[in-house]
Amino acid sequence: MKMPAIFVGHGSPMNAIETNGYTRVWARIGQMYKSKAILMISAHWYKAETYIQDATIPKRIYDIYGFPEALYKLRYPAQGDKELTGKVVAALGQSAISIDNSWGIDHGAWSVLGHMYPKAKIPVVRLSVSNRLNPVQQFEMGKKLAHLRLEGYMIIASGNIVHNLGLADFYGIDPFDFAVNFDDRIETAIINGDYAACVAYRDLGDTARLAVPTTDHYYPLLVLLGTVGKNDRVTVFNKAYEYGSLSMTGYLFDEDGTESLTNDR
Ligand code: ZN
Repeated sequence: MKMPAIFVGHGSPMNAIETNGYTRVWARIGQMYKSKAILMISAHWYKAETYIQDATIPKRIYDIYGFPEALYKLRYPAQGDKELTGKVVAALGQSAISIDNSWGIDHGAWSVLGHMYPKAKIPVVRLSVSNRLNPVQQFEMGKKLAHLRLEGYMIIASGNIVHNLGLADFYGIDPFDFAVNFDDRIETAIINGDYAACVAYRDLGDTARLAVPTTDHYYPLLVLLGTVGKNDRVTVFNKAYEYGSLSMTGYLFDEDGTESLTNDR
């Protein structure tokens, strides 16, 4: 069975210990699919080069500051999967990727996976986001990984399509216009299969500059879109905003179609 490709807007690390509309949808996705292992691209391993881990037990990374003690006690004891690591290295070519076990399952990964697969029985292999690759190269990298879905591996990209913490309003309710505009434009492009528009997001000018001030939370989407095939159908989930300047919107691509993933928050 071909496994899905999923983009998740992870938002606040607090989602790890909360039960809310977002986390209920993540849990539902976990109930829908059981893959051999998960290839996970998270915004929080953002490096110049492309790295992948091959540790038997990936490190748990607590890359968060000033949060409640409960978050630092969370464990997500998934194993790695050397076979999947080997397949990714073979797909991208040895000159394009290096093994690095200094990083591991960071909050972009454990805050989501803890709800999707709380028992942590499915192995997880982390792939970094390279800030040296341009948007076209991000998308091309995804294409080289697309066949993994046919081999029973789920691919998850974790970021946020709109992510401007500098403008975050922690007491605000309504999203900023730029956040809604950018999120809507990307949603329309994805629904129309116009991934080239997502790659060329900078053409949206000031809206893009405000929504994507740095590429760490957006580039995972471009890698993921490269793994999407002609027969995939898309389901949009968790389309909502936090702090005015952060969108939680997620996309699930699956050839068999999906049940509705209602955000009931
Ligand atoms: Zn993040």
